[in-house]
Amino acid sequence: MKEAQFYRITPEGKAVCELCPQACQLAEGKMGFCKARQYRDGRLFSRNYGLISGLALDPIEKKPLYHYYPGKPILSVGTIGCNLACAFCQNWHISREEAPARAVSIEELVGLAEETHREHGNIGLAYTYSEPTVWFEFLVEVMPAIRAAGLKNVLVTNAFLNPKPWEMLLQWADAANIDLKGFTDEYYQRLCRGKLSPVLDNIRTAAERIHLELTTLIIPGENDIPEMIEALSAWVARIDPEIPLHLSRYYPNERFTLPPTPLAVMERAYTIASGYLKYVYLGNMGKENTTCCPDCGKVWVEREGYRIRLLVRGNHCPGCNRKIKIPMEDSPLAERNKDTKS
Ligand code: SF4
Repeated sequence: MKEAQFYRITPEGKAVCELCPQACQLAEGKMGFCKARQYRDGRLFSRNYGLISGLALDPIEKKPLYHYYPGKPILSVGTIGCNLACAFCQNWHISREEAPARAVSIEELVGLAEETHREHGNIGLAYTYSEPTVWFEFLVEVMPAIRAAGLKNVLVTNAFLNPKPWEMLLQWADAANIDLKGFTDEYYQRLCRGKLSPVLDNIRTAAERIHLELTTLIIPGENDIPEMIEALSAWVARIDPEIPLHLSRYYPNERFTLPPTPLAVMERAYTIASGYLKYVYLGNMGKENTTCCPDCGKVWVEREGYRIRLLVRGNHCPGCNRKIKIPMEDSPLAERNKDTKS
């Protein structure tokens, strides 16, 4: 437990958490909506400080990040808790339930990141699996230590955070994959119990500061309507048409039992988004996602599952000399086996 950084006490003696837009008002002893904070003895505490529920060396493609050191592994760590409650959540057992967790120190995590860097080429630490922003007090300590070790910090997040803490995380983040779950406030409220506008604001800020990719899980009959895909893609394109968008196929789980998104719906969403954005990928489809030059069509990266084949070196397209904005190891035609799950 660690005292929370963002909260105030009302004249009535309640704690108002100011970390995220849920703005929970807590009476003594109560937990926040995220289950990651608790008001005790007149102070608000982070319950998940230094607690992890999962740790694995994953391919960077699994985050998913396709335009950031393709083919490299990244040590991935998750805590417990989430400040949204998506009906279709694929990780609800660690995001909304009391999952088993163990304590870890910052030194231990940084040491593991360094060890896996030396032995496997790990590029850094990804904060993922559950929602990392509700691990705020731990992140603002571990992220500077990871950077000081010469490694990268990657957030895989819903970006549903207030502006000041978001700015603080961006100081230390190098890359992020942000879930843009839909494109109406009604969708965010009804299915996720959140709001759209803070997420959009945080995407805009992140796009100016760090490497950014976006993921949208396509739910049949919910956010698959062409108008929503079109509005979402056009909005992203106005920020930067080179932001990669991952359209991920939904599968049912124990709590949300709609059948999987039809393949034709995924293909339609891909076609619509590709009308606005230069790099659109289909996820959870068992489909190869090749990265090609948007100008001349030259293949830059081939993927098959988590196996990748880099077909370029340096940062200009060998076909037309277009700039390739993909940080990568400068290794020609490198093929690596990415079956590094632990
Ligand atoms: S971080 Fe948690 S406790 Fe704080 S406002 Fe958000 S959901 Fe509520």
